[in-house]
Amino acid sequence: MRTYVYDFADGDKDMKDLLGGKGANLAEMTRLGLPVPPGFTVTTEACRSYLAQGVAPAELEEEMAVHLRRIEKTMNRAFGDPGDPLLLSVRSGGRFSMPGMMETVLDIGLTDATVAGLAAFGGERFAWDCYRRLISMYGSTVEGIADSAFENALAALRRERGVACDPELSAADLRELVGTYKEIFRAHTGTGFPQDPAEQLAGTVLAVFRSWNTERARLYRRAEHIPDDLGTAVNVMAMVYGNRGPGSGTGVAFTRDPATGARGVYGDYLPDAQGEDVVAGIRDTLPLQELARLDRRCFDELVRAMDVLERRYRDLCDIEFTIEGGRLWMLQTRVGKRTAAAAFVIAAQLVDEGVIDLDEALRRVDGAQLGRLMFPRFDLSGSPERIASGVPASPGAASGRAVFDSRRAAEATGPVILVRRETNPDDLPGMLAARGILTSRGGKTSHAAVVARGMGRTCVCGAGDLEVDPEGRLFRAGSVTVREGDMISVDGTTGTVYLGELPVAPSPVVRHLEGDPENAPVDGLDAGSGPLVSAVGRLLAHADTLRRLGVQANADTPEDAARARRFGAAGIGLCRTEHMFLGPRRALVERLILAQGEQEVGAVLEELLPLQRADFIGVLAAMDGLPVTIRLIDPPLHEFLPPLEELLGAETARERALLAAVRRMHESNPMLGLRGVRLGLAIPGLFAMQVRAIGEAAAIRVRDGGTPRPEIMIPLVGDVRELALVRAESERVLAGIDDAPPIPIGTMIEVPRAALTAGDIAGQAEFFSFGTNDLTQMTWGFSRDDVEASFLPQYLRLGVFETSPFETIDRRGIGRLIELAVKEGRGARPGLRIGVCGEHGGDPDSVWFFHDADLDYVSCSPYRVPVARLEAGRAAL
Ligand code: PEP
Ligand code: MG
Repeated sequence: MRTYVYDFADGDKDMKDLLGGKGANLAEMTRLGLPVPPGFTVTTEACRSYLAQGVAPAELEEEMAVHLRRIEKTMNRAFGDPGDPLLLSVRSGGRFSMPGMMETVLDIGLTDATVAGLAAFGGERFAWDCYRRLISMYGSTVEGIADSAFENALAALRRERGVACDPELSAADLRELVGTYKEIFRAHTGTGFPQDPAEQLAGTVLAVFRSWNTERARLYRRAEHIPDDLGTAVNVMAMVYGNRGPGSGTGVAFTRDPATGARGVYGDYLPDAQGEDVVAGIRDTLPLQELARLDRRCFDELVRAMDVLERRYRDLCDIEFTIEGGRLWMLQTRVGKRTAAAAFVIAAQLVDEGVIDLDEALRRVDGAQLGRLMFPRFDLSGSPERIASGVPASPGAASGRAVFDSRRAAEATGPVILVRRETNPDDLPGMLAARGILTSRGGKTSHAAVVARGMGRTCVCGAGDLEVDPEGRLFRAGSVTVREGDMISVDGTTGTVYLGELPVAPSPVVRHLEGDPENAPVDGLDAGSGPLVSAVGRLLAHADTLRRLGVQANADTPEDAARARRFGAAGIGLCRTEHMFLGPRRALVERLILAQGEQEVGAVLEELLPLQRADFIGVLAAMDGLPVTIRLIDPPLHEFLPPLEELLGAETARERALLAAVRRMHESNPMLGLRGVRLGLAIPGLFAMQVRAIGEAAAIRVRDGGTPRPEIMIPLVGDVRELALVRAESERVLAGIDDAPPIPIGTMIEVPRAALTAGDIAGQAEFFSFGTNDLTQMTWGFSRDDVEASFLPQYLRLGVFETSPFETIDRRGIGRLIELAVKEGRGARPGLRIGVCGEHGGDPDSVWFFHDADLDYVSCSPYRVPVARLEAGRAAL
């Protein structure tokens, strides 16, 4: 029989799909004998059923009642008992953690009748404080009343009583506040605050189910690529009270430093408070070590529990705990979020400690994290003005205009830094839009910190020197005033805030991977990065031993080729030649376009030949011994001409001729026009010149003692006959060059028809390389140059895509074309070498697909080569 409710004692850490992450980990802690308050988890299946049917499953109420009786028995208290009431907390928790998205209602079960019983247990003041918290949390979670309605009433009361903070309010004050809150509740709902504890519990559970579909939750899931149909579980637990006076408190602990990976006891503790106060970053917390002074016994017990959890999860764990009157309670644990740097360092450390092997270490890092570590950092050699410092919450270097409001940040053009006192889930759109986030309050576990780390945004939080004035749209830091629109720079690695825009320097990981002796360390920049670069190096080396996919680079210059090689590229998978026709050579292309008759064309091509030959010698030398796939010219020639507007006032004969040419060559859909192989066939001699330059460059390299391995790649082929014509001509040209090594001739597969007729095309191609940029453009019928600024954002919002198909390969559509072409291509020519050189070649998700599709290699921009190596290794695990 299906069960919708699991006691904590009945689950374990591997049941995340059903119990959510939080529920599964509560169950695991219960199994491990750690002090978890008794409770149960309502499954994600119940949530999905409720969201689909609009009503909760019929069995749910009875199942919850049975499990509630168990809690009552363990706690020796009854729900709704006016003498000594059991109170409950309700927390959401899906398969994937969604920080700041969770719904929490505490103190469920308090009513006018039970509040006196709670007072008998914890005192009058405590009881009324709990009651007012319940009404506001229930009001906002279940009835959608704005938090500010309650906050304003509380602030008004503080003003009336002339006190600065809540603990100064008396029991009578809080009792009066409960009355005010009830009025607010009635004003919004038309009914009184529910006095039946069972109604409170059922109402909250259903509200948590519904919270799965709020705009905020959807936005977060979209940003994090979390599927929309998972639903959330709901955890119901006996209340324990961190706000029961000085011997109580609440905190967050990490078994290692989540920023650097260093071992130790890290975290924050807040005496006499409830859990939400810590995460919300509303009050300043104490470092966790302080707890050793305040309550040694609980501290030691916590440290022991942390040790048990690290050993069990074999990883960094973060923990939420509460101390009630000198007794420790574990409220939550999970494998902790961490910075990208910490992920690598911790994985390598755990290998050294013998806890995990290198395969497991590789599973625990990913290409997106490595990509983030390759971000540049600020170049501080100009001694910029430091205006504040705070907690380095999420690494990176971001400059932008200060903006003090989430909405304006979301609407701004150009890079912005969102500056807030603290953030809350309503700030999400602004955080997504900002380059960096800066707050004046809160620690590493504040909302801003957790969310920024998750999104890979640079974040400095808790910069206490800042006086943020959102209404005045400014902040003050000592004598400096920064107004909205002023440039600031935040360094999420050191926690420093600078005035103005700063130049950036490469990351230590990049410097290490490049291994360039000229790149001497810069003081303060590489300090402390030893463990990180060594961890990255080890895991990349391990990935290299595992991966089946080769990794090459897209590079057009000797410098890029050399860099790619230092990053570990095994050759060039795409050398675009059109970049070689820019700058001063544009004039030659103009002449080519204006040339009359074969002779004139031939004369221009003769002039281009030595230039191209020199280009290829440079690239072949930089990649000596490794394949260099040179693609013949691809874009429409008129891209090399000045824009029409510039020529409209044509005066000279040359300008008039150019104007006429621009008009003549105008195409409505240039991306579907005279480009690639079509251009090569339409302008006799153009491709032949390039082929000759390649052949002669290779011959010169051979004579100079090099080992050139050029390959010729024909773009935009849609039919085998196009390729056959170019191939025949190329072979004729190459046959006349002494000393040239054998040069394979292959094609890009980037027109859907080429994929569909790959069997035919393989007859003329010694290799295939999928041009997934054009293949995506032509298969979807989306202009790759326009779609980002056009309807793509809306499509993402509407959920038509989870990511842009130009970023991550669309497996269902483009993926099928690729699989078909691989099968038919290799069917016709066994062992056909196949790669990919579109942008997808360096995208982590796509690399897994290319591994699955049995490609031989991916080719991507130099900076993504390490990312592709890592992911190709992970895909092979
Ligand atoms: C492609 O289309 O994927 C490709 C690599 O070629 P380009 O981006 O130069 O069109
Ligand atoms: Mg292309």
